[in-house]
Amino acid sequence: MSNVVPGQYRRVSVATVDGPLTAEGLTRYFLGREAYRHTRFVVARAGRDTALVHVAKAADAPLFSPITSVEILALPDECAFVVAPDVDTGVPTALAQVAATQAARCVVVEGRYHHVSFILDPAPIRIRVGDVVPPRPAKLFDQARRVLELAEDLPPIELVADVVDLVDLATAHPSTQYLVPCRGSGFCVEGPATVAFLDERPPQADWTLLGCERSRGIHEWFYGARPKEAVELCPRRLFPADGRPLLTKCCLLEESIAPQGITVTVPWGASLEQVKQALAAIAKAAEPAWAPA
Ligand SMILES: [Zn+2]
Repeated sequence: MSNVVPGQYRRVSVATVDGPLTAEGLTRYFLGREAYRHTRFVVARAGRDTALVHVAKAADAPLFSPITSVEILALPDECAFVVAPDVDTGVPTALAQVAATQAARCVVVEGRYHHVSFILDPAPIRIRVGDVVPPRPAKLFDQARRVLELAEDLPPIELVADVVDLVDLATAHPSTQYLVPCRGSGFCVEGPATVAFLDERPPQADWTLLGCERSRGIHEWFYGARPKEAVELCPRRLFPADGRPLLTKCCLLEESIAPQGITVTVPWGASLEQVKQALAAIAKAAEPAWAPA
């Protein structure tokens, strides 16, 4: 099992231990000692050394109860202790981001509010985010990043941006006039080519539409026919599933997300809540057994 993090109510306590943090020393130190009702994990510290143990107690109901068994999860040669005052240790992705800077299979983090938590055997789920720019930053990638900053109930996730620049699409399909879906995106090309914006319903011209299926449909509605030249820019078409977890968006989805295993498509104007639903669906498909320990 990788990506082990403590659940919200499985509190981590920190103990300063006399003597070396060996398996025997830790077991001897904790066995029989009273632990608080919520304590399941103890970060043991001796000088600069850190170890992580899991403890079981005689009973869970009393406020304190004697420890009846000690499981060594990581000894000092496998542990890093990081002080990172800006990190919310309740967010698994944030723990994994700290862990990525350390060469240790157990990373203990003292973060925001001085809360201490840990991640054991970090292996964040890598999710490719297929998006288009402009606008910049890539909206779906930026939304997913913002969701993960607060995602207490999602496993550690690492986002990988896979972004197509509409200007590159235009360059690959030379034209003297482009039609793009909306002025608000901030699209512009260098050189003599002109740009018109479909949302302004300009007089029809001999243009190349850089657009999605929805834009081609709007073109047909406005002008009675589909454009003669059209370049696909729907991320769902530009980023086909390739066996890796994928988050992307589609012009034709309006109301809800479309999960298909580890590929989830969201509406073009997805809310942060929908982006979160999508990340959760991908995580569940990619790592169905994951739950905070
Ligand atoms: Zn689409």
